[in-house]
Amino acid sequence: MSTASIEELRSRTRALLSEHDPATTDPLDFLRARFDAGLAWVHFPVGLGGLGAPRALQAAVDAELAAADAPDNDPRRIGIGLGMAAPTILRYGTAAQQARWLRPLWTGEEVWCQLFSEPGAGSDLAALATRAVPSAEGVWTVDGQKVWTSSAHTARWAILIARTDPALPKHQGITYFVCDMTDPGVEVRPLRQITGEAEFNEVFLTGVRIPDSHRLGAVGEGWQVAQTTLNNERVSIGGQRTPREGGLVGIVSDTWRSRPELRTPELHQRLLKHWVDAEVLRLTGERLRQQLTVGQPGPEGAGTKLGFARLAQELTGFEVELLAEEGLSYDDWTMVRPELVDFNGREAGYRYLRAKGNSIEGGTSEILRNIIAERVLGLPAEPRTDKDVPWKDLAQ
Ligand SMILES: Cc1cc2nc3c(=O)[nH]c(=O)nc-3n(C[C@H](O)[C@H](O)[C@H](O)COP(=O)(O)OP(=O)(O)OC[C@H]3O[C@@H](n4cnc5c(N)ncnc54)[C@H](O)[C@@H]3O)c2cc1C
Repeated sequence: MSTASIEELRSRTRALLSEHDPATTDPLDFLRARFDAGLAWVHFPVGLGGLGAPRALQAAVDAELAAADAPDNDPRRIGIGLGMAAPTILRYGTAAQQARWLRPLWTGEEVWCQLFSEPGAGSDLAALATRAVPSAEGVWTVDGQKVWTSSAHTARWAILIARTDPALPKHQGITYFVCDMTDPGVEVRPLRQITGEAEFNEVFLTGVRIPDSHRLGAVGEGWQVAQTTLNNERVSIGGQRTPREGGLVGIVSDTWRSRPELRTPELHQRLLKHWVDAEVLRLTGERLRQQLTVGQPGPEGAGTKLGFARLAQELTGFEVELLAEEGLSYDDWTMVRPELVDFNGREAGYRYLRAKGNSIEGGTSEILRNIIAERVLGLPAEPRTDKDVPWKDLAQ
């Protein structure tokens, strides 16, 4: 089946439910069966958890499964795999790579992380210094340091970009790999954040041997492959589907309704503005998802990611102000290495501090404005004097 209609999807969903009763089937077995039935992400190809169907039809499948109380994966726990690794593997992976990685990625059996940022290469990601050198036949040896790596402590696999030719200009000598986080030479050290938690890590790579069969895309074309990851990352951070008044604006609105003693006319005006902004962002995200049904995300995702970060910081700041002294209390400073970011399940103080990272992770707001200016609006580019200089000749 290369395309599927909504009726076919519904009947497949019902068949899945009748063959695997959600009430009695082990949740992981159910997820595996769902993947094999092509109902995991219906727009993926047949055999890879999909049916080559329009992406927009996924919502009907999800609704039917939710109504039957079927187990679901936890997209927050496997966000990097779902949002970043999977679309890149789908676009650049060989058939063998796709068959090996996509199923356990989607079911959540294998968590992924992203080894992109380095101490000297964040916004200027193409400046990265981690080296991958061909050593034995069909094997690369990788040495370097990555930083701010979310979920590295729970990940089985990592998407990794490394420099394979220092004699070329910085964008050209990069290659894209998949790194096995259990391999010798991979060391993960927690980095404690402003929230007190260590949700991200430093990752030291010392003589890590990566088989050439774990390369995604051609040697030296890692920058182009990374663009697929980065464009998808912005959409996955900023373009999540939320119901009207869902997410942060919902939490704040609930407090507003239930705590009349906190209200002032000035706060009322501000809440209304945030509410409208949240709705505009929600609808913009909806439009972006509709564009996605006909192709890969383009640079427009930068707009929703930027808007999401700004709104999250405004709303969490508003919530702390609204709650006055109560907003300043902090629930738990224990140093933990959480499996996921529990934005909504914690108190206002946690949300306020965690939202600070929203304008940094997945590309800073300044860089996203540059992307919008140059690649969406077509304004003149920033001067880049190092674009054609061999990486080895740049100031390190
Ligand atoms: C919570 C969190 C989770 C993260 N998770 C991951 C992860 O899982 N994997 C991963 O690889 N990385 C991750 N990151 C790293 C993140 O992508 C980088 O921190 C980010 O790209 C910024 O890079 P930098 O920290 O090196 O800052 P820098 O690049 O040094 O930037 C410092 C400041 O200068 C500004 N700036 C830099 N260049 C320009 C320019 N040309 N024009 C205008 N302003 C500019 C930046 O916007 C920023 O404000 C995470 C970060 C956070 C906060």
